[in-house]
Amino acid sequence: MERLNGLGTSPGVAIGRAVLMPRSAGGGVRVRVSDATVPAELERLRQAVERTREQLKAIKGRVERAAGEGHGYLFDAQMLMLDDPMLVHRAGELVRAEHLNAEWALHRAGEDLAALLGSASDVYLRERGGDVSDVVSRLKSNLHQTDWAPALTALADAAEGQVILVTDELRASVAAQMDWSRIAGFVSERGSRTQHTAILARSMRVPAVVGLQAATQQVAPGAMLVVDGTTGDVVVDPSEATLVDARARQQRHAAAERSLGELRALPAETQDGITVRLLANIERPDEVARAREYGAEGIGLYRSEFLLAGVPAEEPTEDTQYDVYRALVEQMAPEPVTIRSFDAVEHAGGRLDAVRGLRATRSAPAGLDRMRTQLRALCRAAVHGRLRLMFPQVGGVEELREARGLLEEARSDVREGGVNVPSVPVGVMIEVPSAALTADLLAAEADFLSVGTNDLVHYTLAVDRADVRASELYEPLHPAVLRMLRAIQTAAAGAARPLSICGEMASDPAMLPLLVGLGITELSMTPAAIPLAKQVLRKLVAAEARALADAVLRCGTVREIEGLLAEHARQHPAGTVKG
Ligand code: PEP
Ligand code: MG
Repeated sequence: MERLNGLGTSPGVAIGRAVLMPRSAGGGVRVRVSDATVPAELERLRQAVERTREQLKAIKGRVERAAGEGHGYLFDAQMLMLDDPMLVHRAGELVRAEHLNAEWALHRAGEDLAALLGSASDVYLRERGGDVSDVVSRLKSNLHQTDWAPALTALADAAEGQVILVTDELRASVAAQMDWSRIAGFVSERGSRTQHTAILARSMRVPAVVGLQAATQQVAPGAMLVVDGTTGDVVVDPSEATLVDARARQQRHAAAERSLGELRALPAETQDGITVRLLANIERPDEVARAREYGAEGIGLYRSEFLLAGVPAEEPTEDTQYDVYRALVEQMAPEPVTIRSFDAVEHAGGRLDAVRGLRATRSAPAGLDRMRTQLRALCRAAVHGRLRLMFPQVGGVEELREARGLLEEARSDVREGGVNVPSVPVGVMIEVPSAALTADLLAAEADFLSVGTNDLVHYTLAVDRADVRASELYEPLHPAVLRMLRAIQTAAAGAARPLSICGEMASDPAMLPLLVGLGITELSMTPAAIPLAKQVLRKLVAAEARALADAVLRCGTVREIEGLLAEHARQHPAGTVKG
């Protein structure tokens, strides 16, 4: 038994067997296949080889027709590799002898063969190393490795039971395509609380621990794991006593959630009568049901860019988007649905685009076309319910006007098609300092404001939100951030515009007294966080929270601020859901 510790980013306890998916293997998944599954795994490999051979033959034919006989010889070399005993044959041996899944067996055989060729004295042989990696990636894609959902489903079946996904890094664009219902827990070497993959795990209620250095080396495929997303503990090969304790904690967590569920029908109202609206953040349309289940009074943020994950550039089409947006507003009726126009998704390495959101759209003609298509789909869907539109990463008034101009164009296009588009409230996300500092000007021209604290903290403090190594510096309680929140609230109130917070700060129960004290009365959070937020708010006295916020704003350091919040929490214990 071995105990590892990382950063818990999605609460709850999961027990299951490890499926390894390191990115270093080109997205390959590593899993131990059972005795019974070995023949099926070998058959999958055989079929992938046949598909690869057909494709290579077809490509060779095309090249020769275009460039003349003899130019397709390169593909002969690749076809010969399919019969090389060191590649496919050896991969088959690895499946049989070591119970590796076909993808991983190919990865291992391919690496060994490339290393052997790389050390050859013959230049021709050395150059064949590139062909090996070409052939291996083609074989892997023919094993449906690029199609994550079925691949993981198959692997979950192969792993016989609950699956804990262990990865060095899982990009949000891949995470968006996975079938999370097959995954009981998530462990990652990199990531952070505000990285989109962690946000998604919370939405899917899958316990998650990130920042577990070398997890993909330390955990063997098929190993039994206990993942505690509340404490950040991961136990490898747990003893019977640890398993018994983990199951008991699972039950306690479920019981605490059930008792919070009883608050569902009650308003989120403070002791002195201030009502706070609690809305849901969602990444996938199918989360609407969960948002309703937890008592959300609307969708405060739908991260629409998740629709772009894994689809070709020309998709999703206007009609597909219209169907999605229409279903969202219809399912959430009569409550509002706030759809954010496409934002950039995190890139490899957890880094964010240097230029994001509207600015990225403006600088790329393809981005502009995509935005026009989206706005038309939104205008059409607005007919069917309470749709609100919000633009991400707005830098200032100029960008807001430009975005509004595009919306007007889309509206007239759709009207010309005979659809009577209702007026759509337009909101601005305040998530870069330039917007925070011009919030009064933006409030004058927008219908509502919503603060994206995840990015606002990132850009204000110059700390990468997606990098676990910087997590101690990533500090939402920094006085600079809190001063911005106060200024934004003053600006919104001055222009009589609704203001909400939709960054992860709103999901953190410890932050709620401060946010209410700052005068914020609309919060959008991951659906499962709503019941606890309600419990905290119903015990709060808003007048005291205002005094707390005033005191906090006089503090110079994060530590002093934390001290004040801790003192307030001691005096007003509200209870938490423990894992
Ligand atoms: C934010 O930045 O706080 C936000 C809500 O947007 P995202 O997390 O999707 O960047
Ligand atoms: Mg953001």
